[in-house]
Amino acid sequence: MSSFVAIPEGSDFPIENLPYGVFSTVQNPQKRIAVAIGDSVLDLHAVSGLYPPGVQAALKSDSLNLLMSLGHEAWTLVRYTTRELLLKNSRLHENPDLQAVALIPQSEIELHLPAQIGDYTDFYSSIHHATNVGIMFRGKDNALMPNWKYLPVGYHGRASSIVVSGTPIRRPLGQTVPVDGQPPVFGPCRTLDFELEMAFFIGGPENKLGERIAIEDAWKHVFGFTLMNDWSARDIQKWEYIPLGPFTSKNLGTTISPWIVPVAALEPFLVDNFPQDVDVFPYLRQLQKFNFDINLEVAIKPENEPETTICRSNYKNLYWTPLQQITHHTVTGCNIRPGDLMASGTISGETEDSYGSMLELSWKGTKTVNLNGGSTRKFIQDGDEVVIRGFCQKNGVRIGFGECKGKVLPAIPL
Ligand code: CA
Repeated sequence: MSSFVAIPEGSDFPIENLPYGVFSTVQNPQKRIAVAIGDSVLDLHAVSGLYPPGVQAALKSDSLNLLMSLGHEAWTLVRYTTRELLLKNSRLHENPDLQAVALIPQSEIELHLPAQIGDYTDFYSSIHHATNVGIMFRGKDNALMPNWKYLPVGYHGRASSIVVSGTPIRRPLGQTVPVDGQPPVFGPCRTLDFELEMAFFIGGPENKLGERIAIEDAWKHVFGFTLMNDWSARDIQKWEYIPLGPFTSKNLGTTISPWIVPVAALEPFLVDNFPQDVDVFPYLRQLQKFNFDINLEVAIKPENEPETTICRSNYKNLYWTPLQQITHHTVTGCNIRPGDLMASGTISGETEDSYGSMLELSWKGTKTVNLNGGSTRKFIQDGDEVVIRGFCQKNGVRIGFGECKGKVLPAIPL
């Protein structure tokens, strides 16, 4: 399978990937849907006339919500047609005028949030992360809460503060307790952190309020995956979270990567689900494999210093699968809608170099992390850019996610 578009060595975006995004250009500020191919994008609005009539309106939209809502068969049709167009000797290959309009270098585009996100939920599905945080705050014997292996723990997050990669993040202000037992103080967060996560977008037919989604049907609702950084103000979180959970410590900004990699592109990288050693209720029992071998990395780039990779983890470390997450999310009859975002929770591996947050890498600030430029970190400093990358690789094929990055700006003076 080979495209007439040149694919540079090591590219995240071969013809086997075809992730979806929303972009604009200086010449045409209208937001349009595209797929990434090599160093270019294919403007799906510009070529929408070459697709079956039933999907053309969705391809002319300024967000992916409509395509997400059309469901699995439409997604397959669009993906198949896009691939046909990008192959050698295709209708597009033989039409240089259309190519000149529809194939645009990535260096000339601005990427936007790929969908209007209605609701956002953040799970807590890495057993290694939950265990590490449990040990830090409750000790080894009570590390995992009694509910953790019975249900995928999560909380309802905030959609308005989700931003696309490259958007700066302002250090937040808030209440903290610098000395245990003393009264709180107000000021800039002192222990700003990242959380290495992935997230998937909901698609497919909307379930009605009151109707749950069975685990056998949950796959129809997974449109595709992005990388995510759930920026976290640890000191604010520590004071505010009791008894209702995180609030302002999480709403300062959540960064996602601009490209949504469809599930179909990830199918060659399916691996066994994480072994679950508690007999879950039948509604959460799944026979279908829905775990993926996705390499994940986090780097810190301080101002005027080189970048340092500080964490190497993998998506397959997650204990709960997206199918179990969807099924549990809707077990009460909660309706989920196309464009909703479901995040994994921090994806830590078993080893110390695979921990997905500074909280764990610095073990609550008791250790330092050394950077290549000579400086050290316990948490994230002003001017630091945090970059998350992800890719699958097998038999010479690399399916990449691009970058999820954000630079921390100083707090607004009091
Ligand atoms: Ca999180």
